[in-house]
Amino acid sequence: MRSPVWHPFTQHGLGEAIPQVVAAQGAWLECADGTRLLDGIASWWVITHGHCEPRIAAAIAAQAAQLDQMIFAGYTHPQAEALARSLVELAPAGLDHVFFSDSGSTAVEVALKMALGHWHNRGEARHRILVMEHSYHGDTIGAMSVGARGIFNRAYEPLLFDVATVPFPTEDAGQACLDTLEALCSGQQKPAAFIVEPLVLGAGGMLIYSPEMLRATREICAQHDVLFIADEVMTGWGRTGTLFACNQAGISPDILCLAKGMTGGAVPLAATMASEAIFDSHRSRDRARMFFHSSSFTANAICCAAANANIKIWHEGEVAGRIATLGAALDEGLASLAGLRGLGNARRIGGIAAIDLDVCDGGYLSDVAPALRAQALAQGLLLRPLGNTIYLMPPYCTTRAEIVRAFAVIGQAIEALP
Ligand code: PLP
Repeated sequence: MRSPVWHPFTQHGLGEAIPQVVAAQGAWLECADGTRLLDGIASWWVITHGHCEPRIAAAIAAQAAQLDQMIFAGYTHPQAEALARSLVELAPAGLDHVFFSDSGSTAVEVALKMALGHWHNRGEARHRILVMEHSYHGDTIGAMSVGARGIFNRAYEPLLFDVATVPFPTEDAGQACLDTLEALCSGQQKPAAFIVEPLVLGAGGMLIYSPEMLRATREICAQHDVLFIADEVMTGWGRTGTLFACNQAGISPDILCLAKGMTGGAVPLAATMASEAIFDSHRSRDRARMFFHSSSFTANAICCAAANANIKIWHEGEVAGRIATLGAALDEGLASLAGLRGLGNARRIGGIAAIDLDVCDGGYLSDVAPALRAQALAQGLLLRPLGNTIYLMPPYCTTRAEIVRAFAVIGQAIEALP
């Protein structure tokens, strides 16, 4: 019987088989037919420590039996209070307020609304958002508007708002990026905010840039009083080797977006953290100035309990070491691909490794990605190349032997390409 399920980013017309996953443990998924898949992309970049991490699973079970879901407008609960305090402690300095939501896209929507609300409440007409070339911030209308325009959003273009784009800071284009940002920040039309993915542009092709460049963009925004929004939905929770990518540049944004790994990836929860100034521009005795945003599951107690359990694991102090070990294995893996035809631009940051294949036309719709995905699947590896970019972003518990195996599968899949 045909399934009624409509899958995300999936072309059902191709009739490809959709594996049914029935269990997960550590770095592995188990399918209904008994096959096991190594989760090479941490189930869309969310699983950090490993699947079904026992301490997170226990926290979820306990909370589900105690307090599940409650209205968060004007009410609170201990898990949300504890989590907000921990986030303020862990995040870069100056982010003293936490607004909860339930996905990365929503965290970004909230950030954009906070930025515009801030200027509106201060009586300044500032609406323009600055973005970085090749960015991806999610699939809702605002998040798409601040992401790169292309195949992902062509049909929805009439709904998207205009933004101004600064070049991605490759080694050659670093100065062009800073000059464009400077010109836009100091121009006639004062921007409301600049939104960036710190250090790595994920869906744009795992494009890595330097902490120095990140710091320089932050400084330009500070000089011109343009709000700096760091979207750490993908880079947060250790993915780049430090808890947050902003830590490597020693910067504090005005607004920080978190999601994915915040609960270790087990359940959906997001947070948008904001500075005192942004909170203050909404705080008043005037109800018309409040922050007009909510979603039904804001600060769901079960999800907050999972996030608190995740933070406890971080406090135990072994996670960074695990990511460093994983990083070393990923370096070895990338080196093992040397000599294969048409590969270049091998790169790695923290627990993310990527390499580009230049034997095809590239682009998200290139046929090479589904071909590699199918080859890897047949060999027990869950892989999802971005066009001609092959990457691994596995859970932190993935062992060196598992990484060796993943790269062997990738090598074979590349060699099997027509
Ligand atoms: N921002 C970034 C940087 C992302 O990588 C993603 C998702 O991959 C999002 C936002 C959107 O997050 P979600 O899929 O949870 O809506």
